[in-house]
Amino acid sequence: MRVVVQKFGGSSLKDAERVMEAARKAVRAKHAGSRVVVVVSAQGSTTDDLIAKAAEITAAPSAREMDMLLATGEQVSIALTAMAIQELGERAVSFTGPQVGIVTDTTHRKARIKSIDTRRLVEAVEAGSIAVLAGFQGVDELGDISTLGRGGSDTTAVAVAAALKLAGYEVACEIFTDVDGVYTTDPRVVPDARKMDAISYDEMLEMASMGAGVMHSRSIEFAKKYDVPLMVRNSRSDAVGTWIVPEAPWMTEFPVCGCALAHDEARLVLDGVPDRPGVSHRVFAALAGASVAVDMIAQSVGTGGKAAIGFTVLNADLEKTKKTLAPIVADLGATLSETGKVSKVSVVGAGMRTLSGVAEKMFRALAAEGVNVKMITTGDIKISVLVEEDAEPPSSEDVPGEPVKKAHLEARRAVRGRKALRAVHAAFGLANPRKGAGVPADGTGNGFTPRPTPAVVPGAADREAAIARLGGMEDVLVSGVHLDAAQSRVTVHDLPDTPGNCSRVFTAVATGGILVDMIVQNLTGPGRAELSFTVPRADLPRALQQTKDVVCGIDAGCRVAGDADVAVLYVLGVGMRTHTGVARTMFGALAARGINIAMINTSEVCVGVVVERARGEEALGCLRQAFKLA
Ligand code: ADP
Ligand code: ASP
Ligand code: MG
Repeated sequence: MRVVVQKFGGSSLKDAERVMEAARKAVRAKHAGSRVVVVVSAQGSTTDDLIAKAAEITAAPSAREMDMLLATGEQVSIALTAMAIQELGERAVSFTGPQVGIVTDTTHRKARIKSIDTRRLVEAVEAGSIAVLAGFQGVDELGDISTLGRGGSDTTAVAVAAALKLAGYEVACEIFTDVDGVYTTDPRVVPDARKMDAISYDEMLEMASMGAGVMHSRSIEFAKKYDVPLMVRNSRSDAVGTWIVPEAPWMTEFPVCGCALAHDEARLVLDGVPDRPGVSHRVFAALAGASVAVDMIAQSVGTGGKAAIGFTVLNADLEKTKKTLAPIVADLGATLSETGKVSKVSVVGAGMRTLSGVAEKMFRALAAEGVNVKMITTGDIKISVLVEEDAEPPSSEDVPGEPVKKAHLEARRAVRGRKALRAVHAAFGLANPRKGAGVPADGTGNGFTPRPTPAVVPGAADREAAIARLGGMEDVLVSGVHLDAAQSRVTVHDLPDTPGNCSRVFTAVATGGILVDMIVQNLTGPGRAELSFTVPRADLPRALQQTKDVVCGIDAGCRVAGDADVAVLYVLGVGMRTHTGVARTMFGALAARGINIAMINTSEVCVGVVVERARGEEALGCLRQAFKLA
């Protein structure tokens, strides 16, 4: 039996006319022979308006009351959508999240789904009704209303599809929004961004968590874990949108599939940290315990027994971060400082695992625009850089003494980040099609076109085994740990912090065809950066020579060091960054054995750490044990 879950976002329901359009799509899917569940967001800007209303009362509303308030937006939408479907002569019944047993944890405003009881939904659709469900909301174990975080209706839709799949249905999930699908980057920022035919779960997960607002990243965790066929498409047309699918071999032929911009993060530097095992664990375990997801982490190699750790957190978590770390910072005799406004630009692509030269091309494009890179981290299929933004420049449109208009502010945010995004998009030729998705060429169709069959579904057996171990639906999935003991590390100390230097280093290394794997760049002192990267051990002498040649020409004060004896450990899974417990478990397990972490990289699908080679096997065993992997 087939169920189609259709999710409509806020802009697709913004007025009565659009609600009727959405209702017509649902009715059409039902007439085509499917059971239909519709998941709706709040209309238009309702959620923002509710947040503004709360701000009129208090600067610090309680999270519980905010959830009570925000959940009302979706409740309006379900009733109106059900009425619209009834108006079209079909049966419909609306449900709030609590009514269909969407049970979450108690983290108000970013609650995670623990379980979904599909009984009422199943009863409704089996009785011939279209079920209309409020997205974004659930009920916690105390019986209080919770919400899943901004954009969380996508997660409700995919989670419900996954739950219905587990209940025995053949499912499909359509995310209707105001664009034709997933683009190579935000089409509002880069006008020549191109709609993709298909993108892999991992690529979409990285894109979404790096700032591509088109999908809530946690929805992709569900899609991947439960293999839910998923398409993002336009609510105003019948054009085929973008399939989000398991990785297929053709995808790996392209180093980069898309890029994204985020400007809601703050950069912090923890300086003068003792360089010994367990210190990163203390810092990141404390943040994980406070539910603060750390994004970029760049730990410098350190000199004189002291290291610097640079990292980013969401602006919304900044105060909490400072408060949480204050006692630890004092105890370590370190300092914690916050830097100015930053934007993060990331490139994502499955081909990056094996194709060389991606970093080089990205840094060259940024250097050509005169963009200075403050921090770099890589993941297995992404590279992120942090660029410094000017404080918001005044504009001729500002009226002295009056607050700056919201639209003007928006246009002025992330000026350098936008410029960097456009440069990177052009450098990778993303406006040209990435062929091979296998979506029918005519591009239209009223029904839900069958998903292109990917040639491989990697780790399906692992995934099933891992799901079987899950306690809750949205628990993190750690599927494997890998050790690469054939890597070595190059470190450039005291690289001047000026545009173009990283580009010069990677251009030199790429000329030798060397595959650079992990990259971490961090600012270590005023005007000085430390750049570390790993290369295959056999390539170390060449990489060192090329690096030395180029940095000599940059500044006589730069020092280059090589370390042939490193091992890289990768912990693979889904939702690795936002489930803050992963970092805690990982660092905790290594610290307990006294294994020092020399480099760290985090992403949603992979956390990588560099350790001494002699302890690689031991570290592998200890992480396997920590994550209960066979
Ligand atoms: P909805 O209300 O339907 O959930 P959202 O505003 O959450 O819609 O998401 C759609 C918006 O996401 C688009 O209007 C687009 O500007 C933005 N966006 C950001 N990155 C991308 C991308 N890579 N592809 C498509 N849209 C993107
Ligand atoms: N209405 C919520 C929001 O604006 C959830 C969503 O739209 O997905 O964030
Ligand atoms: Mg959305």
